[in-house]
Amino acid sequence: MRAQQHGPRIWEEPPPSRIHGLSARTILAIHRVERLSGDYYVFPGATARALRRYQAFLQPPGRRPLYPQDAHCSCSGCSFDDVRHARDVLEEVLQRLPFRARAELKHQVTALDAVYLDRTLPDPFADRRQWRVDLWWHRRLTVGGETM
Ligand SMILES: [Zn+2]
Repeated sequence: MRAQQHGPRIWEEPPPSRIHGLSARTILAIHRVERLSGDYYVFPGATARALRRYQAFLQPPGRRPLYPQDAHCSCSGCSFDDVRHARDVLEEVLQRLPFRARAELKHQVTALDAVYLDRTLPDPFADRRQWRVDLWWHRRLTVGGETM
């Protein structure tokens, strides 16, 4: 009866974080991915936090460019200071979600991506300067810092 060792354990953890605009079904699927992920950075609640961080970064009104900046500490909490890390976490979760849940979360992330692309500047020297340049959100200028 090995199956009984699994299942119920999921519910001993804190309940799934609510995410505005996502169905209960998708929120449960996200919670499951977070719970079962072996990734240190993908912990329960990480997706909700990543979305909030991404939204907050893009919040300043106006047309002035925004600049991602490095986090000063690499722990799972402080890493969110770097908005690119928030986007990394979202990507990680998206890739692990079942089709319908992925489509629903992707819809929100794509809307934020469009603003991010619009408000940040391309880094022409990304190949030399940035880390993880295979991911487009890392190929943006970081100079100037993230200021309000
Ligand atoms: Zn830290």
